[in-house]
Amino acid sequence: MKWRGRARSANIEDRRRGSAGWAPGTKRRRVAQGGAGGIVVIVIVIFGAIALGIDPSEILRSQPDLLRDIGGGQATTTGRPAPDAGEEELVDFVGVVLKETETLWSEVFAQNGIDYSAPTLVLIDSRDRSGCGIADPNTGPFYCPADQNIYLDLGFYEQLRARFGAPGDFAQAYVIAHEVGHHIQNLVGTLGDFNQARQSMRPEEANAYSVRVELQADCYAGIWASYAGRENLLERGDIAEALNAAEQIGDDAIQIRTQGYAVPRTFSHGTSEQRQRWFRRGFEAREVAECDTFEVANP
Ligand SMILES: [Zn+2]
Repeated sequence: MKWRGRARSANIEDRRRGSAGWAPGTKRRRVAQGGAGGIVVIVIVIFGAIALGIDPSEILRSQPDLLRDIGGGQATTTGRPAPDAGEEELVDFVGVVLKETETLWSEVFAQNGIDYSAPTLVLIDSRDRSGCGIADPNTGPFYCPADQNIYLDLGFYEQLRARFGAPGDFAQAYVIAHEVGHHIQNLVGTLGDFNQARQSMRPEEANAYSVRVELQADCYAGIWASYAGRENLLERGDIAEALNAAEQIGDDAIQIRTQGYAVPRTFSHGTSEQRQRWFRRGFEAREVAECDTFEVANP
């Protein structure tokens, strides 16, 4: 991806404990680990939830696993070295990708007469707090609808390359574009509908619903990839990198890799074939309306 020299988003919050320098124009806020700051956050979440008439324990308990993407918790993270120049370059890259998602979705929303409010991407490198409970780096990047934050541990990208067999900067960009896709779903009410509906669903039904939600986020990521092409940001092989990532993180691929067989009723994100197909559909169609994974009989 030809990202160097492009503007970075200001909507990045760096909570990495080992981080050193930080460029101007970026939020830098540290949370007091287990201290008063954390308590204040929890209190705000709970009072905010009560004000909305929602059972706060439900928010804290039920939301994170829903959109905890690609995780599984099998990864182990041992002592992490202090960030080096390579990691700081990765921060620059993430900032540029996020900014490019803001440009695209601001345009799309403006075409519909709506102001786009961008998510904040929170960089973590250890267990941290989120509006959806504990943000654990080991479970992979995720979007939290309650605080509208994307939580990302940069170490995940090494896992994506080495453990999932999905190298390449555009595979990394796809992960962010997918999480931003969940933010779009949150803004337009899709996630709220899902959270409501799944309360009364059997696990298999809720999983099938979740797959539609996830495939739509992949389709939105494809729309973003198409935008990146129009902006002349793509290099040869970029789309192949994203499609390979979509293949490697398909539920069937992950299950076969980890346990030797796949159990379709437990799928929550879609198969390799589905994830690739919906990403490609967004990439080719470039239209939000083409990403309606809820309309088709078999997504
Ligand atoms: Zn997802």
